[in-house]
Amino acid sequence: MRPMDSSPISPPIRSVCVYCGSSETTRPEYLDLATRFGAALAQRGLRLVYGGGAVGLMGRCAKAANAAGGDVLGIMPRFLERREIVFEAVPHRLVDTMHERKMIMFEESDAFVVLPGGIGTLEEAVETLSWARLDLHAKPIVFLSEDDFWAPFFHLLDHTVDANLTPASFRNAVANVHSIEACFETLRSPAKV
Ligand code: AMP
Repeated sequence: MRPMDSSPISPPIRSVCVYCGSSETTRPEYLDLATRFGAALAQRGLRLVYGGGAVGLMGRCAKAANAAGGDVLGIMPRFLERREIVFEAVPHRLVDTMHERKMIMFEESDAFVVLPGGIGTLEEAVETLSWARLDLHAKPIVFLSEDDFWAPFFHLLDHTVDANLTPASFRNAVANVHSIEACFETLRSPAKV
């Protein structure tokens, strides 16, 4: 196996937004992936922007990035403070609404990585995809899992392409990768969304 390439990713990618699950009871492999991905961001000098919580994949990712000396910014809606438990050790902003949270996460980030997650993760990822589809941004969006967790989502996307509801060019620009290394390679030379 080749050693992981931990060379820095040059600007314009300085901050990476991670969308991922808040569940503590998901598969341990997913929690482990989030831990390794957080550390990998820090090793490359990339700031993690995320939902601000200390639970689930989001908590694992932020704690690992912080432990590895990386910058982290969390954005937490006040009404979720208790449920998702703010990770106080890193800079975080408290906001009033989900919409504010997503907008700040979007504005503070140069690229998006989607780890396994539930309905909240899907919602965030699909909104960011839909903004790209509307040409509101051209920031890379990469889905990352090691077991092809996102395959059903990509089947659905293909289904919309088959019906001429989504252009194939758009679908092809959304990356579905299966290793942390492949994720950073894609961020180094992203397809244009
Ligand atoms: P989940 O994948 O369901 O565990 O949710 C992952 C993260 O997405 C959690 O931090 C949720 O609070 C967040 N989330 C859920 N729904 C939304 C939404 N509509 N807008 C922004 N974040 C959300």
